[in-house]
Amino acid sequence: MTDRYSRQTIFPQIGNKGQQKLSGSFVVIAGCGALGTVTASALVRAGVGRIRIIDRDFIEFHNLQRQFLFDEEDINNQLPKAVAAQRHLEKINSSVSIEGVVADVNYSNVESLIKGANLIVDGSDNFETRLLVNDACLKHRIPWIYGGAIASSGMTMNIIPDVTPCFRCRLPKLPSEGVALTCDTAGVISPATMTIGALQSAEALKILTGSKKVNHDVLMVDVWEDTFLKFKSRRRTDCPACSGTYDFLDARHGTVTTILCGQNAVQILNPDRKKVSFKQLAKQLESLGRVSYNEFMLTFEVDHCELMVFPDGRAIVKNTNDEARARSLYAKYIGM
Ligand SMILES: [Zn+2]
Repeated sequence: MTDRYSRQTIFPQIGNKGQQKLSGSFVVIAGCGALGTVTASALVRAGVGRIRIIDRDFIEFHNLQRQFLFDEEDINNQLPKAVAAQRHLEKINSSVSIEGVVADVNYSNVESLIKGANLIVDGSDNFETRLLVNDACLKHRIPWIYGGAIASSGMTMNIIPDVTPCFRCRLPKLPSEGVALTCDTAGVISPATMTIGALQSAEALKILTGSKKVNHDVLMVDVWEDTFLKFKSRRRTDCPACSGTYDFLDARHGTVTTILCGQNAVQILNPDRKKVSFKQLAKQLESLGRVSYNEFMLTFEVDHCELMVFPDGRAIVKNTNDEARARSLYAKYIGM
């Protein structure tokens, strides 16, 4: 088994000592899309001892162009990304403890999901989740690595509590809808996400092994224009998160709807709902539309929309971008 890591232990910056640190580490990967599949694969192969992968989505055909862990069989089996990722990664390195969690990272669960972690790696696709992760990580003094990619470019930076500026120092408020480019409007190519995922993975290895080379700057790459920029950012003296005010973490509210990036779908979150029995729900719905379910997800087709319901009461309503319509379908068929 020691041979497995020989090529990185003879790399003196890691060595046997670094390898031991990796095997004693616990990393949480928040989001398992294009970036998350790259970082999860790299860190599992590198022998990080324990990895939790959180993702709320199921796999679709347009994911396969850049999400390296998944295949067509996962789609045919209607597997959530977190479950498919865990299955594939366990085959790669059985000595790593891998936990796939099918969930949306939100105010009600983020602190318990990151508890005890040495590092959080960002693989999410929206600013709201990142600002929430930023709050939780600053509060619990856990470093995290931001990553984002769009079209042929991407950006990454490390957020180390008390050392670097935080994410909110750079992004004081959420970009208004329609301003931020999304994968839907601008597209994204896999070399861009691979590069950002690779840079995140390198920083993860440095942070976990206690390297002095951990990057404190912002890195920007464009793989089409062949540009690689590195620039400094400053901590904002008026940053609420850096001063201990966690607005995103403390913004507690009930049902939350989110339009999902690039999917013509709306997610409905209902943290107050009790656990859903698929068997019972399927029985209630079978006369109203087409229903099918496995242990991870129940699918219900009605009114030209498709509702995908998860055991924790979360749902994704497909074929609509209308939050009100999605909320009404949820209330009508699943119940608040
Ligand atoms: Zn800050």
